Amino acid sequence: MKAAAFSYLRPRHLTEVLHLLAEHGDEARLLAGGQTLLATLNMRLSEPALLIDMQVISELKGLDLQGNTLRIGALVTHSAIETSGLVAKHAPLLSAAAPHIAHRAIRNLGTFGGSIAYGDPAAEWPACLLALDGVVVARSLRGERRIAAVDFFTGLYTTELAADEVITACEVPLARAGQTFAFSELARRHGDYAVVGLAAVATLDGGLMTQVRLAWIGVGSMPMRSPAAEQVLNGQPLTVESVSRAILVLRDELRPIADLTHGEAAKRQLAGVLLKRALLGWVRDASVAEDRSVNTLTSIPFQGRP
Ligand SMILES: Cc1cc2nc3c(=O)[nH]c(=O)nc-3n(C[C@H](O)[C@H](O)[C@H](O)COP(=O)(O)OP(=O)(O)OC[C@H]3O[C@@H](n4cnc5c(N)ncnc54)[C@H](O)[C@@H]3O)c2cc1C
Repeated sequence: MKAAAFSYLRPRHLTEVLHLLAEHGDEARLLAGGQTLLATLNMRLSEPALLIDMQVISELKGLDLQGNTLRIGALVTHSAIETSGLVAKHAPLLSAAAPHIAHRAIRNLGTFGGSIAYGDPAAEWPACLLALDGVVVARSLRGERRIAAVDFFTGLYTTELAADEVITACEVPLARAGQTFAFSELARRHGDYAVVGLAAVATLDGGLMTQVRLAWIGVGSMPMRSPAAEQVLNGQPLTVESVSRAILVLRDELRPIADLTHGEAAKRQLAGVLLKRALLGWVRDASVAEDRSVNTLTSIPFQGRP
């Protein structure tokens, strides 16, 4: 199938985009990397009257440090994040997640802002933004809004963004001393959307985990955290007992939505596997730092509800 006819404009400045959106509202669609939008146009899932191509708008580009945050311009590509030394140093969770997004050709064109705006529950960036307590910066002719990731995603492919708003950037707090990160996902083939994925952050303080944030991919209609499992881990040392208990609580807490290939029970089981992997990774990191053995934690049983 081919896309329905549409008008096409390529403004040079953000203000022109804002005026066009104010004038055309929901009749217009913003084009960033096109890696999702062009497919939906060709399948006629979306038939906008006007396509506003943002590719040359410099205000939406660039990765830079601003105070205690890393600012990721909306047009920054997945590949740019994957290869950025600045990201590796200050937001290592994003560096770990980037290679899981699709394939190289798609990562070279797809953008951070496009992924956040689309709000796919199986996508990597929305969950990372949630895990990092990031902020979405949105602009319209009415002004600028800063929306916390936790408030931004509202349902299946739906977000807080109004029809006349553009995401200009996202901001994530810089990694702090003592913080540890983990990203892992299970997909049918590398590059496919995740069946289940986990973006995890914690602070290891005197051997205890604090400020644990577990953000899940592919388990619900939007990226979501698991507060009960987080609570079980907060204030605890990384031991067989704390990890096993967290996995049991997690499997009770999650209510995954089945997809074409995996049912609810399978996803719940896989989520437990990912949590175990993340926590064991943290144990290994801590052990290497303290030069001690990790053998005691490598045999955590996979028990509990399937
Ligand atoms: C074969 C294939 C496999 C893929 N696999 C994965 C995967 O494993 N993981 C993953 O996360 N993604 C995957 N993707 C999607 C890819 O990451 C897209 O790049 C991303 O979802 C959208 O980014 P984009 O820049 O291409 O946005 P576009 O396709 O240009 O736009 C997507 C939507 O966001 C809106 N939009 C774009 N930018 C803005 C903005 N700044 N402000 C407001 N609205 C905006 C557009 O109007 C449109 O509605 C895959 C895509 C393909 C084709």
